[in-house]
Amino acid sequence: MTRPAGILDNALGAVGNTPLIRLSKIAEQEGFKCNLLGKLEFVSAGGSVKDRIAKAMVEAAEKEGKLIPGKSVVIEPTSGNTGIGLAMACAIKGYSVIITMPNKMSLEKEATLRALGAEVVRTPTEAAWDSPESHIGVAKTLEAAIPYGIILDQYRNENNPLAHELTTGPEIIEAVTATPVTSLHASSGKVDVVIAGAGTGGTITGIARAIKKTHNKDAVIVGVDPQGSVLALPASLNTTPTSVPYTVEGIGYDFVPDVLSREPGLIDSWVKTEDEEAFKVVKRIMRSEGLLVGGSSGSALAGAIQWLRSEGKVWAESEGANVVVLLPDGIRNYMSKPWFLELTMNAEPTPLAGTIANILGTP
Ligand code: PMP
Repeated sequence: MTRPAGILDNALGAVGNTPLIRLSKIAEQEGFKCNLLGKLEFVSAGGSVKDRIAKAMVEAAEKEGKLIPGKSVVIEPTSGNTGIGLAMACAIKGYSVIITMPNKMSLEKEATLRALGAEVVRTPTEAAWDSPESHIGVAKTLEAAIPYGIILDQYRNENNPLAHELTTGPEIIEAVTATPVTSLHASSGKVDVVIAGAGTGGTITGIARAIKKTHNKDAVIVGVDPQGSVLALPASLNTTPTSVPYTVEGIGYDFVPDVLSREPGLIDSWVKTEDEEAFKVVKRIMRSEGLLVGGSSGSALAGAIQWLRSEGKVWAESEGANVVVLLPDGIRNYMSKPWFLELTMNAEPTPLAGTIANILGTP
């Protein structure tokens, strides 16, 4: 599973194989006795967990003879990260790319897509998923009209959850089982809890399958869904109407994608999160753990904390229990966003800023 020591053929060799990192300070601040562990996906070559599915969908389509170098135009509706993964794969392999993406998604994602040579079409954020104006609707219109246009369709493509069942899940299992018990760190020796946000739901579905089928059928899988989305179960949790917009990118939807499994017993529990709490947690992860994670990582950890304080309290109090939180992308995707500027550039001056002003005499 670990990356081979030799030379990689291209950037796709640097997709996935991400580290699992102890979030010791946050666990300590919360009084958790379990091992709180973050799966750090922004170190993947394209900067997110979605590189894995982009690579898998492109390679599967190639095997099926669906892509022709120099001719095929890969079209995909995405919140950006799948698009970046696809644009990276297609730059290497010689396919054109058009990404359709709601207006709310960051400028940084569009800039990255354009850097990789993709065309980007923005769509109204408020358009219902099945309307012709939505990112999904516009992608379909383009596919029908562009010769050799093809949507790989992360919402329905089985290679989306499969990529996580074959890579993300096994990497988590390997990291946990390969870590010895020491006097510093107790360990149950297995993955006990995984907490992840859902957009398409491919990440959580694939990881849940890998862990429950091959490693620990009693593991607890917890989904995180923002207020305003309809993915959480029971549906009574989804009290905020979908017309109320949320700022966090990449998680939550106004429909349930096919790749989000509803198989009973696979995803055990759901928590709902608010933007404000998620963004505060992003700052906490950056300041306490030195990890430059993005907005949905804040949602995932905010959801984890919420769950560990309530329903999952026995796990929080269980020394050596391994609780994994999926951190999907990095803060460099969001540095122009008002929420990021508010947390950093426009934040209250630190005591050290006062000291500097005193020494230098600046206002
Ligand atoms: N976080 C971010 C930043 C994402 O881009 C995505 C993908 N939409 C997710 C979380 C959720 O991943 P998935 O689609 O596999 O549920």
